[in-house]
Amino acid sequence: MAIIGGGITGLSAAFRLQKMMDETKEEVDVTIIEASNRFGGKIETLQREGFTIERGPDSFLKRKREALDLVEELGLSDQLVSNNLGKAYILKNRELHPIPEYSFMGVPSLLKPLLDSSLLSEDGKARALNDLFIPPYPPFDDMSVGDFFAGRLGQEMVDDIINPLLSGIYAGDLYKLSLRATLPQFIELEKRTGSLILGAKQVLPKNKKKTSQFATLKNGLSSLVDRLVDAIRFPMLKNACVTRIEKMNGRYKIVLKNGETLVADGIVFTLPHEKTQDILSDCPYLKQPNAEPCTSVGTVAMAFDAAQVTIQKEGTGFVASNKEPSAITAATYTHLKWPHTTPSGKALIRCYVGKKGDEAILDESDEIIIQNSLDNLKDVVDIDGNPEFSVVTRLRESMPQYVVGHTQWLKQIEETLGHDYPHVYLAGASYDGVGLPDCIRQGNKAAKRLFNELLV
Ligand code: FAD
Repeated sequence: MAIIGGGITGLSAAFRLQKMMDETKEEVDVTIIEASNRFGGKIETLQREGFTIERGPDSFLKRKREALDLVEELGLSDQLVSNNLGKAYILKNRELHPIPEYSFMGVPSLLKPLLDSSLLSEDGKARALNDLFIPPYPPFDDMSVGDFFAGRLGQEMVDDIINPLLSGIYAGDLYKLSLRATLPQFIELEKRTGSLILGAKQVLPKNKKKTSQFATLKNGLSSLVDRLVDAIRFPMLKNACVTRIEKMNGRYKIVLKNGETLVADGIVFTLPHEKTQDILSDCPYLKQPNAEPCTSVGTVAMAFDAAQVTIQKEGTGFVASNKEPSAITAATYTHLKWPHTTPSGKALIRCYVGKKGDEAILDESDEIIIQNSLDNLKDVVDIDGNPEFSVVTRLRESMPQYVVGHTQWLKQIEETLGHDYPHVYLAGASYDGVGLPDCIRQGNKAAKRLFNELLV
């Protein structure tokens, strides 16, 4: 068997296959094939001058168990750290406004925090309250997140609250993003309660204490990757870019860029979908109707002496409103949210840059990206001087766009690929969830399917 791609999805698939083989005493050759010179894909932690700096993801949701379960299986539970709680803000008109309390993905569950909010105009609030009175949508299979929320809560609510909250996850155009693939629970809530506000109220009990939702590892997420790489006994190839697959008598010949070949009975592809589509170029249904290219984003970590930084509005960071003319789309006060990352007496702020239609900033030099980010940051955080050092990371075409019809498209692949390419599965961020727990779940699922087909 072969697992193509050594990000978290591929490594999880390999680890799961190994576990199942250990449990059943069944053995089969498995090779992990990774194009770059390291494993982990988007996950990359940098240790510098006592700081733990994440260049890609910085944490995972605890509510979806798969990442926590993997951490436990790998014996890393004693390394787990949960985020510090704190207010989060939305940047609008160069000012920070608190996100209304008791909201679920931006949808208010109580009226008072919405009415008190400085984020919306009086008209915007009145329009949001219409949600309580307008009839539910007639039954539909899918529509865009933007259309759905704007129809119920109004445009302002989408631009100034919902879009900024979602942009950290998808960095895309909300009017192309599939509701069913990203927030299907809202379809159900609206159908059941006839209103998003009433629906949010059911999901968020009024007196529930706020608890930390995210976790990471003390030495950064790369320690999860390192532990997986140590635990996996299969051959793991680096600098091995897959360019082509050829069918040969019920098996597959995998052709690498350097001309070398491998043979496998089954394959799990865990690449960004565009790459898989190039490799399996004889499968027209892999081309998604209305496909949108992945969005490119960047992160800028800035390390300061604590005395240089005064956070005026206490909290853990902010996201920028959709229309804010700011280079940064979000910022995390990492030393406050994740104190273990920062030596005492220092401060660490991580800014995000780049969003759909505004990715040109990534073509600028590091110096310009840092300067622009710093200038924007200084609008809302008192910063004296320049960072002691900064780390810019460009993650080109890194955020998959689940366009309207995404789940339908996945269904079609599911029904068709198995006929054309038996024992070949697609898993990872391009398909059924972008978060780390989603990727681990998909890696596990593909491994179990292959194992059951080829070994049981
Ligand atoms: P990848 O990590 O992209 O791995 C795919 C691998 O395939 C890569 O190593 C690549 O080199 C390799 N490859 C590509 N082409 C070939 C080829 N032809 N042959 C062989 N190998 C190939 N999620 C969270 O849960 N929490 C967060 O805080 C979070 N923050 C994020 C912040 C940013 C800036 C980004 C971009 C994403 C973030 N995510 C977060 C999402 C999450 O990081 C990703 O969805 C996840 O890491 C993707 O894992 P993957 O294994 O599916 O893909």
